[in-house]
Amino acid sequence: MGSTIFSKIINKEIPADIVYESNDILAFRDINPQAPVHILIIPKIEIPKISDVNSAEHGIIISKMIDVANELAIKENISDDGFRLVFNCGKNGGQEVYHLHLHLLGGRQMKWPPG
Ligand code: 5GP
Repeated sequence: MGSTIFSKIINKEIPADIVYESNDILAFRDINPQAPVHILIIPKIEIPKISDVNSAEHGIIISKMIDVANELAIKENISDDGFRLVFNCGKNGGQEVYHLHLHLLGGRQMKWPPG
């Protein structure tokens, strides 16, 4: 266990600005924010990427991650105006860290199409 930087954050081996923690989910502020609110929501179990989600157990985790995103959006006052949730997957998806994470972005107008 412990193959990415996010495992080190989970294990408190390196610091992060943690905004939510439960027995199976962690959320912390992105070190290089792309919006006024930019939070990463991750499972504590190691799933490399969204295309590896393949079981009912994983499905429950994804559902919990979305619940946490919605709760944090309310807490961060971005729920009413709206926000964006993103899973980058693989090389063409722009994924850099191969520990599943959901980006919660808000506090500004998002553009479409994404870059
Ligand atoms: P990806 O491109 O894989 O979807 O997103 C990875 C995200 O993790 C990036 O937005 C990057 O800024 C963030 N990140 C990478 N290393 C760290 C770190 O050590 N701490 C925090 N808080 N965020 C990180």
